[in-house]
Amino acid sequence: MKLLRIGPAGAERPAILDADGVARDVSSVVPDYSPETVSLDLIARLGALDATKLPALPSAARIGAPLKRVGHFVAIGLNYADHAAETGAPIPREPIIFSKAPNSLAGPNDDVMLPRGSQKTDWEVELAVVIGKRCDYVEEKDALSHVLGYAVCNDVSEREYQAERGGQWIKGKSAPTFGPLGPWIVTPDEVPDPQNLDLFLDVNGEPAQRGNTRTMIFGVAHLISYVSSFMVLEPGDVITTGTPPGVGMGRKPPVYLKAGDRMRLGIVGLGEQNQKVVARQG
Ligand code: ZN
Repeated sequence: MKLLRIGPAGAERPAILDADGVARDVSSVVPDYSPETVSLDLIARLGALDATKLPALPSAARIGAPLKRVGHFVAIGLNYADHAAETGAPIPREPIIFSKAPNSLAGPNDDVMLPRGSQKTDWEVELAVVIGKRCDYVEEKDALSHVLGYAVCNDVSEREYQAERGGQWIKGKSAPTFGPLGPWIVTPDEVPDPQNLDLFLDVNGEPAQRGNTRTMIFGVAHLISYVSSFMVLEPGDVITTGTPPGVGMGRKPPVYLKAGDRMRLGIVGLGEQNQKVVARQG
């Protein structure tokens, strides 16, 4: 099943895709997808519906982020060996954990806004995991049964803020629109192996990133277990699991985003995102 939200920003309606790819309004079942409402039980209830009996939403409507808001927006750094190499960083011995501001969340096709004066805004296609059940010291063997679903994430990153301004990476990962998620959350029954998913990202029609989740240093189950040993993960929390090689900072010389650029990114089976880069207004 694919969970998505359709409508203008701030007025989206929760929906599921039917067998023909039509978005069906489920607001009669759940007011919205948010940390207060998402759960494995909700997935079971939605799965039992006859989608063809639900109202269809217009196909040309905007797709919002698949959650109204996220709880914790956790991210993993340098989790692909080939990406670690292109950044010049050593392979981490344990997962690197950082946070993105929860309100960096954005729709999959919304404009990405460059922060004021930004010179080093970069792209990162990633597999995101949405938590569906409380994780408190979850064992690796049980971890995937706590997953609500999987989604595409662009972990947009301002490299100067991340690496040259001192302190934690959160500075470079948190600006408004730096967390496009979606187009939908795909439930685990449709993702038989999260460690064998092709990822891609193109900039202005040119290939930038190509990868597969099989080259992750730490797999999804390990990451959920590991993170849950430091903090309790709740339904509606998101872990974005690191990026494969091909980011702008890895080019020689580095290449960064400018207003007018276009990003297209996706993961096979999880859908695609398309973003235009614009200057921050106001
Ligand atoms: Zn990242």
